[in-house]
Amino acid sequence: MITAEKNLKSTLKEYFGFSEFKDNQEKIIQSVLAGKDTFVIMPTGGGKSLCYQLPALMSEGTALVVSPLIALMKNQVDLVRGYSQNESVAHFLNSSLTRAQSTKVKQDVVSGVTKLLYVAPETLNKPDNRRFFEKINLSFVAVDEAHCISEWGHDFRPEYRKIKQTIKSLGENVPIIALTATATPKVREDIKKNLDLNNPNIFLSSFNRPNLYYEVRPKGKKGNAERQIIQFLKQKEGKSGIIYVLTRRDTHEVAKLLNVNGIKAAPYNAGLESQVRADTQDAFLKEDIDVIVATIAFGMGIDKPDVRFVIHYSIPKSIENYYQETGRAGRDGLEGHCIAFYSYKDVQKLEKLMKDKPVAEREMNAQLLQEMIAYAETAICRRKFLLHYFGEDFDEENGPGAKLDDNSRYPKKEQESKEDLLKILKVVEESKEAHILKNIVRIVMGRKNQDIEDYQLNELKSFGSGAEQSETYWNSVIRQGILAGYITKSIQNFGVLKLTDAGRSFLKKPVSFKLVINHNFIQEEADQEKAFMESSKSGVLDQDLLKLLKDLRKKEAKKRELPPYVIFQDPSLEEMASQYPISSDEFANITGVSKGKAIKYGKKFSELIKEYVEENDIDRPQDFVMKSVVNKSGIKVFIIQNIDKKIPLEDIASEKGMKLEELLKEIETIVMSGTKLNIQYDIDQYLDEYQQEDIYDYFSESETGSLDEAYLEFEDEGITMNELQMMKIKFLSEVAN
Ligand code: ADP
Ligand code: MG
Repeated sequence: MITAEKNLKSTLKEYFGFSEFKDNQEKIIQSVLAGKDTFVIMPTGGGKSLCYQLPALMSEGTALVVSPLIALMKNQVDLVRGYSQNESVAHFLNSSLTRAQSTKVKQDVVSGVTKLLYVAPETLNKPDNRRFFEKINLSFVAVDEAHCISEWGHDFRPEYRKIKQTIKSLGENVPIIALTATATPKVREDIKKNLDLNNPNIFLSSFNRPNLYYEVRPKGKKGNAERQIIQFLKQKEGKSGIIYVLTRRDTHEVAKLLNVNGIKAAPYNAGLESQVRADTQDAFLKEDIDVIVATIAFGMGIDKPDVRFVIHYSIPKSIENYYQETGRAGRDGLEGHCIAFYSYKDVQKLEKLMKDKPVAEREMNAQLLQEMIAYAETAICRRKFLLHYFGEDFDEENGPGAKLDDNSRYPKKEQESKEDLLKILKVVEESKEAHILKNIVRIVMGRKNQDIEDYQLNELKSFGSGAEQSETYWNSVIRQGILAGYITKSIQNFGVLKLTDAGRSFLKKPVSFKLVINHNFIQEEADQEKAFMESSKSGVLDQDLLKLLKDLRKKEAKKRELPPYVIFQDPSLEEMASQYPISSDEFANITGVSKGKAIKYGKKFSELIKEYVEENDIDRPQDFVMKSVVNKSGIKVFIIQNIDKKIPLEDIASEKGMKLEELLKEIETIVMSGTKLNIQYDIDQYLDEYQQEDIYDYFSESETGSLDEAYLEFEDEGITMNELQMMKIKFLSEVAN
């Protein structure tokens, strides 16, 4: 049923225009053409589609392609059609088609022109369709995203489990090609077993992505991760990236925060209108948007080769998810920076989300999450950890991508831990190689719980043999014992620790075992917090600079015949003398300095600061200041609009539930940051012409503009604080703007 073998390369050129095969493609295609069951494990972007598309085009009959996402089928079909003269060469059959459309599809298949028919598993398994498929000439069945068969990963699709039954009913010996980009050894077993692959040819590509840089940072208190993200994005300005968050709400909040900070970002989640989602994807591809803030809904089928960074604002629920999401960075082989923020709070959030799931699923998810936590906390080469998870060895000294992760770049000290590994191996042996990591740690530390008592593990000789060390420490010993090949985790009984041959000989004759202690993120978060507090405190007031700034203010004021405080008030100068703002953005972030004011008066001041910083070699406490979303702009707009309408200030205040005093303070801030406001209409209600003139003159001669001083001056005339404040506002509005 398959045409004679042609020169594959020329066929590749003819059908797809490529001159070389990638990776294992050629061997895989030969295997499919030979009618063998074939199992392909190749990372995302590796070129899996071609492995079934080319043989399908070369074979008689129609290949069925089982694919989980209806949304992506059209795209796939369009791609194949793009290479062909004939629209009918590829079709999809799923619930989105009208009756007339599916009739046309079926006609094309029967007539033999259709070489590839994409179906969802539900469509394939439907009795009606099965009867149809039985009658047609099938070349082979391709099962794409085959990991959907397994519960041990992400996106498990129960319908996938019934595929094999259906395929069998379509005829004996229909060859199967299964493809996946994510398969731990456990998932691989599941796929082989479930599809009942017949002595398959297995093609396993390396999952290593040597150009990606992996990094995990403590998330810390609210605001910390955000600040780091913005700082990072400012360095990557104009480059494309994805930020993964946990909830739909987070997509909006984080995107908004980025927008406020001048970054072109948009939210993306499954709850958005499909048109909005399509537009957002489009804008990202066209680079009108640099950063997408997404839940996991984003990325499937998105193929932007130059995504430069993938940030996990919260850790994902499994390493499979993490690896697939980070895999979207640097597909063109160039830079790809992957940062994950880790906090125990997010772990608890994920656990909460699982709470309502059935027990079995919950336990499985908990174990997947445990692996993710272990990844975050590990202090060894991250690439080695990840690849080991997918069943691959990695040489952290010379392998492709060695040293491209935070742990390798900033290594922690190693320590000799021969005796402690020995303790663990003894515990594993004595407990009959029947317990999971958590319990092994319990035993060595001598901690009882129900499990321990049920199995009488507290009676083991080694119970409590390592009570003096911490849990983090024992976790490190076990994890690294696994990586060094002394212990394995059973694939069948997920999580149960067993000794390897190397482990058994270590028990007899221990050798050196070097250990790096895992990260302790609770400690690291606290340290980071402290360092930040110190650095913002190290906004210590620089008295020398403050003096220079005051001199400059005096000079500038004189030049303009204005009192100094009209230019900048003291608190603003003090902040400048501790934050050292230089750019106009930084300047505008100083309290009491608006963009307008920064432009009008800022230049001379920033020049002075810049010179001072350079001359004195000063480390500025922060390279940028993050703007937060919560500002009072709503209230400001309200105030400005109402003053324009000449609404009495008392009324504006009571409308907003403020005291008049508070309102006046707010108005002064508005005026000081560069907006002219005319409150004459209200002043006239309180003060006569002569009083107004006196107070106005006072403020134009005052050095400080202090209301308290003014009050002393006018107390005898019965002028109130509020009235003085109003006059000050009038004065400032007229001269400072
Ligand atoms: P996967 O399904 O493994 O994630 P795809 O099949 O979508 O990957 O292929 C990824 C990209 O690689 C596509 O743009 C495809 O056109 C391209 N590609 C596949 N094979 C080759 C090849 N032999 N030469 C050049 N490009 C290829
Ligand atoms: Mg694919």
